[in-house]
Amino acid sequence: LDPHREFQKFKLHPYVANLLRDGKIVQYGAKTAPVGGYFSIPKLYCKGGLIIGDAANLFVSQKIKGIHVAMKSGMLAAEAAMDALIRDDYSESSLSKYQKSIFQDKIGKELYRSRNFHQAFQKGQWSGMIKAAFQYLLGGRIIRNRLPSEPDFVHMRMLAGPNRVGSPTVEQSGDIIYDGERTFNKDADVYYSGTIHEERQPPHLKITDIDLCYDRCPNEYGNPCIRFCPANVYEMEFDEKTGKPSLKINFTNCLHCKTCDIKDPYGNITWIPPEGGGGPKYTIV
Ligand code: SF4
Repeated sequence: LDPHREFQKFKLHPYVANLLRDGKIVQYGAKTAPVGGYFSIPKLYCKGGLIIGDAANLFVSQKIKGIHVAMKSGMLAAEAAMDALIRDDYSESSLSKYQKSIFQDKIGKELYRSRNFHQAFQKGQWSGMIKAAFQYLLGGRIIRNRLPSEPDFVHMRMLAGPNRVGSPTVEQSGDIIYDGERTFNKDADVYYSGTIHEERQPPHLKITDIDLCYDRCPNEYGNPCIRFCPANVYEMEFDEKTGKPSLKINFTNCLHCKTCDIKDPYGNITWIPPEGGGGPKYTIV
């Protein structure tokens, strides 16, 4: 799936197009939402360190909301850090009070109430709606424990057979006209994100096994990185004479959404921080 392309199509729906009439683009950005939920929250402290916000999966996946949780976790972490400073004690046991404070707080209870939201839908839409509603309304009295789930059940299926291709790329399908007013191609959108990286640095996107991108991935998953990346960072080029593929990585376009690090089916891409200061320049918060 190419989420950027789907979003352009969404804006062309007559109802949405009417809402956007006379509007103009202000900024572009992309972000992967950590929807793992309550059961994927890691240990939130270590000696001398605390984890807050999205980094700790503190995100209400049922509402696709995480800013309030991130802010509150930052406040609670600041309190724990201040306490550690006063007592000059940065040990695990000293900082563990931060984790307790998260789960005693309103945000911890909110995360707990929606803890099985995604798992509930793995057996279908209708049973998912019933289970999710019971859990939310009754606060977990009926479904107390973690429902069984498979990792990325919906989106990580292999292509049906060898030599199949995935969903069409924008260029292949050609069914969206980018008018520069309502619809924008990825390159134009990257411009609106203000993304800048120093060109003369090692790419901050590391491919562990490049042969896998040419041998297995095209047949098994159809090189999804060239579709799901919202900034056209990954491009597969083919030699005119030999037809040999070559993966081009336009790392300077990267919006730091982390989709490739998370969604590459083989875990073959690792995102590391680029040189200081590089990345999108969001000015609207
Ligand atoms: Fe997002 Fe990865 Fe593309 Fe950067 S390279 S924009 S982190 S998918």
